[in-house]
Amino acid sequence: MAEGGFILTASHNPGGLEEDFGIKYNSSNGGPAPEGLTNDIFERTKSISFIRWCPNLPLFDLDTLGLTTIGGPPGYPGGFTVQVIDPVEDYASALGRVFDFPALRTLVARSDFSMAYDGMCGVAGPYGRGILGDILGVPASSLRNCNPLPDFGGHHPDPNLTYAEELVKLCGLTRTGDVDPSSLDRPVPQLGAAQDGDADRNMILGSRFFVTPSDSIAVITANAATAIPFFRTGVAAAARSMPTSCALDRVARALGIPLFEVPTGWKFFGNLMDSLELGGKNYNPFLCGEESFGTGSNHVREKDGLWAVLAWMSILAVRNAGVPEGKGSFVTVEDVVREHWKKYGRNYYCRYDYEGVESTAAAAVMEHLGKLVEKQSARGGTPTCLDVPGGGDYRLTHADNFTYHDPVDGSVSKNQGLRFIMEDGSRIVFRLSGTGSVGATIRVYIEKFEEDTTKHSLPTAEALKELAAIALYISSIEKLTGRKEPTVIT
Ligand code: MG
Repeated sequence: MAEGGFILTASHNPGGLEEDFGIKYNSSNGGPAPEGLTNDIFERTKSISFIRWCPNLPLFDLDTLGLTTIGGPPGYPGGFTVQVIDPVEDYASALGRVFDFPALRTLVARSDFSMAYDGMCGVAGPYGRGILGDILGVPASSLRNCNPLPDFGGHHPDPNLTYAEELVKLCGLTRTGDVDPSSLDRPVPQLGAAQDGDADRNMILGSRFFVTPSDSIAVITANAATAIPFFRTGVAAAARSMPTSCALDRVARALGIPLFEVPTGWKFFGNLMDSLELGGKNYNPFLCGEESFGTGSNHVREKDGLWAVLAWMSILAVRNAGVPEGKGSFVTVEDVVREHWKKYGRNYYCRYDYEGVESTAAAAVMEHLGKLVEKQSARGGTPTCLDVPGGGDYRLTHADNFTYHDPVDGSVSKNQGLRFIMEDGSRIVFRLSGTGSVGATIRVYIEKFEEDTTKHSLPTAEALKELAAIALYISSIEKLTGRKEPTVIT
């Protein structure tokens, strides 16, 4: 087994010389390197005294599969062998063990099913063509932007309502996730899906319907045992990142399985998946997700965009297995989600991103909020009437700076984001993020739980209006950063 691997990736950042391009190191479990290892590597870089270069390395053809020997025959001093593999083949066979491919082929072949898949000119394209197209029979016309381009075709390959503009429009939605009235006179696909530049993120759309990533992982978890062979024996545990909505918690409770709330970063999920090997409990089969369009399971140690698309196709395949074809009774993505809300309640959710904020201004916002956390903590659980103009009658019961105690390796992660939890379970979370390209990004996560089925069809912005007013007021974000509105709303 390989001890690790390097991944050259721009992930979900736009292309171009000015933009981020990273070298990732994943360790032998296939997941992102743990902090202990990266800290260790960083320490050692401080004492590097020389670097060896090989300026005359002969070029070899990356487009031809097979072995190339460089620097002499095998075993010759200084010689080595490079193997070019087709990763689509390996990955397809791995997914073939997770999903019921014949059932997915039956779904794709239905006359009342159509889908649109957007590879966003990133690495997802060849996987989409190979697996959705060649294996499952999705027509080539449904596979969009599947040719990887060095500059991602001038687009920003981040699958969300803002950047996957073309797909969002095609599925009959506006950039706020609401129905686009101009789409009502044309047919739209039953399933829309997009992936980021390195194919680990995903966005799921139905016809004129946006599935929030927080709802997506909750719905997949609720349906996994019946729809996906990998989970036939049941899901053993589930996890979400702290800012992800609590929709998954309700499913975990109903299934009677443990639910972990972890800091943002896939390595925390990886630890739980490897718990048994690390001397702890077995949490597999395991499902996890984050609001930032990441979804996955223990079939690999990274989030997996195409896996999420196939998971949704599996749910549609099972739900429609007995439904007569072409009679207008196809069970849609929206039907599945609405039924889910009816059973578990709806967690309205949205995220505001203030990108490229000057670092000192961003720090000032967090410091200002930190004082409110201290003030509320001192009240020891006594609710505070927030009394914010336009903020309704919400009462703040709990505020903290999220700390995670990893049950597997015992590590403690502090300062993972400021949480403000209201009496009815609604939450506002503030986090500084380092994954953007320039300056600091302030993320504000707003969530409201609604049990009343008659209130499940409000536009998200309306349902969250009061909480949004509270978030802007308590953070003084406009005053401290000069920003009148967020850069991106997802
Ligand atoms: Mg990525």
